[in-house]
Amino acid sequence: MQPLMEIFNVSKYYGDIAACRDINFRIWPEEVLGIVGESGSGKSTLVSCLSGETEVSSGEIWYNRYKEKILFSGLTENEKYMIQKKEIKVVYQNPCDGLRMKFTAGANIGEPLLSSGARNYEDIRNKALYWMERLEIGQDRTDHIPENFSGGMRQRLQIARTLVCGPKLLLMDEPTSGLDLSVQARLLDVIRKLVRELGLSVVIVTHDLGVARILADRLIVMKSGEIAEKGLTDQILDDPQHEYTQLLVSSILRA
Ligand code: ADP
Ligand code: MG
Repeated sequence: MQPLMEIFNVSKYYGDIAACRDINFRIWPEEVLGIVGESGSGKSTLVSCLSGETEVSSGEIWYNRYKEKILFSGLTENEKYMIQKKEIKVVYQNPCDGLRMKFTAGANIGEPLLSSGARNYEDIRNKALYWMERLEIGQDRTDHIPENFSGGMRQRLQIARTLVCGPKLLLMDEPTSGLDLSVQARLLDVIRKLVRELGLSVVIVTHDLGVARILADRLIVMKSGEIAEKGLTDQILDDPQHEYTQLLVSSILRA
């Protein structure tokens, strides 16, 4: 099996600050990879390098596109955009970053199809309805704008807007933080079910080890911009080797 993405010695500097340093890992087809670590450890920077929104300072990111290996981190903006449009999608912590707040829910899901050239409106509408149903958003909300949605519903809509593109890789940065616990639990359930059924590769950033436990097959633990530890989720959470991971795990047990 070929990895979907390979990350070699990636670093990202902001002036003298190394937001990420010497990062190496692979993303496999159909896996859910969790990235955990305290605030400021470089999780968002890393994900933003994977999406191509942030340019790496050094190192390489390779993307395996339909059996063709592409140096993703070396693409021009236009070439990158072609991949970001469909194949590598981002779900932001703040739904406002991933949604058009004044477009209807239906239009939010339909827009990516339109910009990919779809012109059959009935077909677009049916696809929007289909993805609303998959995300368990009531179909009666098609013509409502996200400004009037709850936080959890906005996040579902944002996810629907990415999935309609048929992505290969879904990057989620703290998608459930800021939501009430019960809302968060229901959303996690929906996400877990969907990614398994669709066979997606997912990278999920979270500072919440409980979320990581529920969703991720494998974990990368970040500390001060570097990978402190990586491995299977159960192994890392039940038997952390690195002192920092032990601290993270014990702090959640005490909480
Ligand atoms: P996390 O998502 O784990 O909280 P970030 O990736 O946001 O961490 O940040 C990692 C480090 O990089 C922090 O020290 C942060 O201040 C710094 N950083 C992130 N983005 C920028 C930026 N655009 N300009 C300057 N420093 C940044
Ligand atoms: Mg972050």
